[in-house]
Amino acid sequence: MLGLMQDWPLLCHKVIDHAATFHGGREIVSRSVEGPIHRTNYHDLRLSALQVAKRLDAYGIRQGDRVATLAWNTWRHMEVWYGLLGIGAIYHTVNPRLFPEQIAWIINHAEDRMVFVDLTFVPVVEKIIGELTTVEQVVVLTDADHMPDTSLPNVIDYESWKAEADSDFAWKEFDENSAAGMCYTSGTTGEPKGVVYSHRSNIIHSLAAAATDMLNASARDRIMPVVPMFHANGWSLAFSAPMTGAAMVMPGARMDGASIYDLLETEKVTMTAAVPTVWLMLLQHLEQTDANLTSLERVVIGGSACPRAMTKAFQDRYGVQVLHAWGMTEMSPLGSFCSLKPEYADLKGDALLDIQEKQGHPPFTVEMKITDDDGVELPWDGKTFGRLKVRGPAVAESYFKGAGGDILDDEGFFDTGDVSTMDKYGYMQITDRSKDVIKSGGEWISSIDLENLAVGHPDVAEAAVIGVEHPKWDERPLLVVVRKDGRETEKQAILSFMEGKIAKWWMPDDVVFVDEIPHTATGKIKKTTLRDQFKDYRLPTA
Ligand code: AMP
Repeated sequence: MLGLMQDWPLLCHKVIDHAATFHGGREIVSRSVEGPIHRTNYHDLRLSALQVAKRLDAYGIRQGDRVATLAWNTWRHMEVWYGLLGIGAIYHTVNPRLFPEQIAWIINHAEDRMVFVDLTFVPVVEKIIGELTTVEQVVVLTDADHMPDTSLPNVIDYESWKAEADSDFAWKEFDENSAAGMCYTSGTTGEPKGVVYSHRSNIIHSLAAAATDMLNASARDRIMPVVPMFHANGWSLAFSAPMTGAAMVMPGARMDGASIYDLLETEKVTMTAAVPTVWLMLLQHLEQTDANLTSLERVVIGGSACPRAMTKAFQDRYGVQVLHAWGMTEMSPLGSFCSLKPEYADLKGDALLDIQEKQGHPPFTVEMKITDDDGVELPWDGKTFGRLKVRGPAVAESYFKGAGGDILDDEGFFDTGDVSTMDKYGYMQITDRSKDVIKSGGEWISSIDLENLAVGHPDVAEAAVIGVEHPKWDERPLLVVVRKDGRETEKQAILSFMEGKIAKWWMPDDVVFVDEIPHTATGKIKKTTLRDQFKDYRLPTA
């Protein structure tokens, strides 16, 4: 016997319908790429998205067609997303921080028919346009007055393009399992792989992510997604925020500490989300200007491990609650949040920070297990680490065009490539990427733990740990440090600071100081480059 409930397909454009109907006046404030602050609301954004949908439809974009965006977080990017979603076309967010050759490769692989590009990235598209084999039309996300001189053929400014249609249009109807969006993994090795979200997976994921013990989003929030929409499905904030009726504050092209601070304060942001590098810049700005955060309540930190010192600074110094989160492009992307269950709710001080170093527990719809290399499940004792595997309705089943082959185990779990522990209350803690873990004398050392500890030193701005060849132990940890401006700290001071806080055999064999640590296009430490840089490094212990 089947249930007797309505068949209401889970389609993403229903999110903007809901927001426009029940939270129509709620603002979307953006720092435009041209400079000035722009204000709209969900009611008007929906009308613009309908206009975009009608214009795309008139041009001949059809269900299943891919359309690329190379764009910052702004209202225009949102309009394009929802316009595409409403006709069953696919928003393909391309990370503009990749090398131009990678961008060209990805756009060709996805077979994008159009490219919507911010002013900032017009030079990138000019550079690669000759190599783009499927792109018919480039639209620059600006108005006629701000159109740059460009060598691009067949190009138009967004506002003029959009004005060729009105908003008298009805969303198309289609199956909830239809593709909605696409995002290529940053992939430090091999070709990038395309993850394809469906309407259904986006809706289920955004509902799960918005919940109280996760993003804890509500209509009373003013949410600033600093994490770009082109990074891992924008952490689903372009859905979770309108779904709950939260206002949105979009930072546009300016991601430096001062600009972010300015928006947090003037727009009274209550919740924001980004990778640790962004928060490092904000905290430095706050320290240098002796400023305070007067409306921010929560900061979601993920994409890389959130250092303990960062959690401490936000919570103890500025009174902002840190929500450490973990996820990946293949998971839509949010997989866990470190919110406090009753078992941990009364912890204070260091005991609380110990828990907040964990990446946390998953929402309903994400299943987790840890296994050894043979797939045998490992105990949830908070100590044993193994391969972290996940399953759920918003987890990738395969990559676009079958890249990478079969990616699930016999039980349908996806291997995240992360190594983690699980504790008895179901809190997961990443110890490393499986490729980055340091294998010393048959035992594993977590590079992340060492990095987190090292950045707790008051003179350290950033730290990275890699395994370097060792004749006796196979590999030993080398600590690479960027000092804070004007600080003179030496190796011994840092090692003394770490001593006693970790097992003796985990202590780095050496410390080197550099001006800069290389990062990937999504702000993660680029360990492959560091390993290359130090491949001939001779440890003093070798
Ligand atoms: P991406 O698909 O680019 O978002 O990268 C996903 C990967 O980032 C994960 O598999 C982890 O290795 C890493 N990552 C994400 N969040 C965290 C976190 N909170 N702590 C440690 N690593 C993280």
